[in-house]
Amino acid sequence: KLYNMVQDLKGNIRVFCRVRPIFNSEMKGVIDYIGKDGSLFVLDPSKPQKDARKTFQFNQVFAPTATQDDVFRETQPLIRSVMDGYNVCIFAYGQTGSGKTYTMSGPPGRSATEMGINYLALNDLFLIYIRTCSSEDDGLSLPDATMHSVNSTMDVLRLMEAGEVNRAVSSTSMNNRSSRSHSIFMVHVRGKDTSGGTIRSCLHLVDLAGSERVDKSEVTGDRLKEAQYINKSLSCLGDVIYALAQKNSHIPYRNSKLTLLLQDALGGQAKTLMFAHLSPEEDSFGETISTLKFAQRVS
Ligand code: ADP
Ligand code: MG
Repeated sequence: KLYNMVQDLKGNIRVFCRVRPIFNSEMKGVIDYIGKDGSLFVLDPSKPQKDARKTFQFNQVFAPTATQDDVFRETQPLIRSVMDGYNVCIFAYGQTGSGKTYTMSGPPGRSATEMGINYLALNDLFLIYIRTCSSEDDGLSLPDATMHSVNSTMDVLRLMEAGEVNRAVSSTSMNNRSSRSHSIFMVHVRGKDTSGGTIRSCLHLVDLAGSERVDKSEVTGDRLKEAQYINKSLSCLGDVIYALAQKNSHIPYRNSKLTLLLQDALGGQAKTLMFAHLSPEEDSFGETISTLKFAQRVS
């Protein structure tokens, strides 16, 4: 409870940054320093050393050595606030290959200790909240979406795996589809609190499409349209979270389908967490800076 109060004082939007390991030891990295206080220093490889350092500040920064459990432990109080009736939205943002899916779902063929937030969150909610109720029609109109009633973490895991298979199947017919699509996992919670009052809340777990800029000279036609659509939806998401953080009276939800769909999950008393994922290699520096700027603006 005390932890929740401290978080509440900070407002309803938090940004955590996660840096994945470098896999090829030949590659140079750009991360200079990660502080326990959420500070992050990166080095611009094109600048002389004295001008190279750029500094950023987030609520938390996770180093490449951070485990799935380390990340989940910092996220758990937010997820539990769903049971206090808050709507919670967690986003994974970053260029393709930066670790979004790793954070949300885990690596392919994951072991028990490599499970991502999706699984750990649901497991946690089932642990503290045993009885489940049927899903009902919420007036949600998504042509290909279905709503399922679940009774255990395993039920949820099976549904998530089916979703992942759907995302992967399209990737064979269209160039790397999974990084060019948003994956949105919505959990609706209906229940009664200890005094008999009704709880209605939701948890949205969103693995966003890759944020990398697509070179207009390299793609044409549908691929270009798709890339422009993704960039637009990500920048609209940034605008909405920024407007919420500023407590603006007008929040531009209507500018993209993504934000329109998430309108109820983001407004009002909702709590939002953005994971900004970084690929630390030197050749990703441009995308790293644009991810950091996006994340800094909404925090
Ligand atoms: P994205 O979803 O952003 O495209 P992935 O989550 O697929 O990126 O990550 C790219 C690769 O890096 C995968 O092989 C993934 O398992 C690995 N990876 C990402 N983050 C980590 C991490 N923190 N620790 C170990 N491996 C990671
Ligand atoms: Mg992915």
